[in-house]
Amino acid sequence: MSKKVVIVGGGWAGTAAALAARQAGCDVRLFERTDMLLGTGVVEGGIRVNGRFAVVGELVAMGGGTLFQVIDRHCQVELTGHDLATIEPVVRRSLLLAGVVVHLQARVDTAQVTQETVTGISATVAEGSTRIEAAGDAFVDASGTAGPEGNCSTLGMDCGRCITRCPTFGAPLGIPALAGLDEREDILPCGDTLRVAGLSNVFCAGDKAGFLRGQSEAILTGTLAGHNAARLAWGLDPVALPRTLACGEGIAWGLEHKGALGEVGETYTFSGWELFGHMRERSLDGTDAAEIAGRVEAAGMTGFFVRKLG
Ligand SMILES: Cc1cc2nc3c(=O)[nH]c(=O)nc-3n(C[C@H](O)[C@H](O)[C@H](O)COP(=O)(O)OP(=O)(O)OC[C@H]3O[C@@H](n4cnc5c(N)ncnc54)[C@H](O)[C@@H]3O)c2cc1C
Repeated sequence: MSKKVVIVGGGWAGTAAALAARQAGCDVRLFERTDMLLGTGVVEGGIRVNGRFAVVGELVAMGGGTLFQVIDRHCQVELTGHDLATIEPVVRRSLLLAGVVVHLQARVDTAQVTQETVTGISATVAEGSTRIEAAGDAFVDASGTAGPEGNCSTLGMDCGRCITRCPTFGAPLGIPALAGLDEREDILPCGDTLRVAGLSNVFCAGDKAGFLRGQSEAILTGTLAGHNAARLAWGLDPVALPRTLACGEGIAWGLEHKGALGEVGETYTFSGWELFGHMRERSLDGTDAAEIAGRVEAAGMTGFFVRKLG
């Protein structure tokens, strides 16, 4: 019998989660409230900067690097945001070709919950005239932290360029809030498998997970969250990535140091000094492709994300 994974949010995290869950053999539906994918990732974005080289290389070696390969194939630049007219359609096409059902202009606004388990979500489509319902075995919240308008004007973050276009498409909404949980300034409590505390079958990714920030970072956590949602759907335990890898160490270290910078919205990136410095101390910062592939092989993780689970 098929297993169903539902993704809320079509930024880099949500699109990566969708591909990972699909690679793991699930039926996948992705809901995005605006009329296009990539969310806040439509602006700047050095995919390979400092420690991100290792993250991209490891994900490709693990079979979770489809989005990086799409970017490399279709854009001659590493700053994706400068080539939006090219990159959004090719990402959308790669999802459709993979068999992901993409619902655009579909804002998730209701979640059905029974004893800490989400059984389904529903969304308002376009101008409120239609509704779509989606049942799922597991869910990924990749709804980001940008917006709504009140946050933009008081905090001056995220939506400064009105990327989220809340007046047109409605404010972002996440599954935990819809399930009645306190999202604590949009930062979700989760462990290194990215499962949301208090919801047995919901995983979080990207900015919403609250400890890593950036496009490559969103693709990393999105890939793990989508894969773990698929594992849970197939009756397997969710996994953490090994700390011998830059990907696993970055997630574990980011969680351990979550909130250490003090202010809401301050999170870590593989390009920023705090985390990149830590990667250098661990010798996980190299850019040599063979060395990165060898590290992934030694961890037993080569092709990990393309192994079908069901
Ligand atoms: C101005 C700016 C500049 C940046 N510069 C860089 C940079 O140079 N390099 C870099 O690496 N990173 C940069 N970042 C950060 C990076 O863009 C983000 O960390 C990353 O794109 C986050 O991806 P995400 O998928 O987690 O979230 P988002 O991109 O926020 O995606 C969330 C998606 O969920 C959708 N959504 C929300 N609620 C719902 C709902 N209820 N139903 C359906 N859909 C919903 C939203 O519409 C959105 O598309 C920048 C960010 C901004 C705002």
